[in-house]
Amino acid sequence: MTALMDLPAVAALWEFIRYGLTGWGAGAIVLFALAATHLTIIGVTVYLHRCQAHRALELHPLISHPLRFWLWMTTGMVTKEWAAIHRKHHAKCETEEDPHSPQTRGIDKVLWQGAELYREAAADRELVERYGHGTPDDWIERRLYSRHSVLGVSLMLIVDVMLFGIAGAAVWAVQMAWIPFLAAGVINGIGHFWGYRNFKSPDTSTNILPWGILIGGEELHNNHHTFATSPKLSSKWYEFDIGWFYIRCLAALGLAKPRALPAEMFLDPSRNQIDADTVAAVISHKYELMAMLAKSFKKHARRAQFQPSVVEKWTELRKEFETMWSLRHLSVEQAVAGLQSWCNRAEASGIAALADFSKRIRMVSPRRTAIAV
Ligand SMILES: [Zn+2]
Ligand SMILES: [Zn+2]
Repeated sequence: MTALMDLPAVAALWEFIRYGLTGWGAGAIVLFALAATHLTIIGVTVYLHRCQAHRALELHPLISHPLRFWLWMTTGMVTKEWAAIHRKHHAKCETEEDPHSPQTRGIDKVLWQGAELYREAAADRELVERYGHGTPDDWIERRLYSRHSVLGVSLMLIVDVMLFGIAGAAVWAVQMAWIPFLAAGVINGIGHFWGYRNFKSPDTSTNILPWGILIGGEELHNNHHTFATSPKLSSKWYEFDIGWFYIRCLAALGLAKPRALPAEMFLDPSRNQIDADTVAAVISHKYELMAMLAKSFKKHARRAQFQPSVVEKWTELRKEFETMWSLRHLSVEQAVAGLQSWCNRAEASGIAALADFSKRIRMVSPRRTAIAV
């Protein structure tokens, strides 16, 4: 062996197997793996999720093409399939038809076998055709990305081994596990199971952490389900969405065009009425208002020991306010009358916090000229 290693060609080969072309040490290789997986996450959240599935922004080809290429190299996922499965998730959320709801399939299944659920859904061609409209259908998509979806990840293995030798195989394994676990498992599983909720969206979505860095901002899943077409996933001042940070950088360079963010809710103190404008503004801010109502209850419950009859009255009015907006068959006149009646009863309930909330409803303004909430 020693004699063999003395041969320059064999020694060079051994050197290559151990260190690859870069000769980098463990620290540099770990940094590379973190950067590479972060880029993949950004591809998933900015390109696949926000741009393709929800049309929350447009991306310049100078950005979308490299991201498509990188996703092909590191995940092998086909844009049309990804967008279709995700759109169906939103359309059929938490029902038997949801491709990956932990409520119907169990958290263990979604967390640990999320990638398998994804593959099952992708094999459903009817689903992909029905929900996958508007995704890229150009030459490179047809001839390369969707037709040879395994080729990219195979090339990535070769590139990793060339760069780092035997350690490259480990880098590749991490890259391959990153999205199936963090996106298909953690977001689709934990993001509908555990965490905090800013808004009472009609699903079980949760914000896993207020700082969306590791999974590109996707951690803020309850905010996302509430404002699905918003390009920004953070909502509170203390929340951070790194995907939105990148989108803003790209927009500043003219490389991305995000949709307008959901309008902020404004209260106009000079307003004291309920009309069609109030109903329209209340509907577009219903989740913020429900959250305000719930928060106000908690605040007052802490201050004063509520009597059971007060709690009962409050709960009844709160539930009614929450369900009022799911009655889609209501005409505008009926909705105005319903809201008017709700406010009258809230003001007559003898519960100061409910009366205050009702007064705020009367101030909700369709204009952006008054004070912010
Ligand atoms: Zn979801
Ligand atoms: Zn989504």
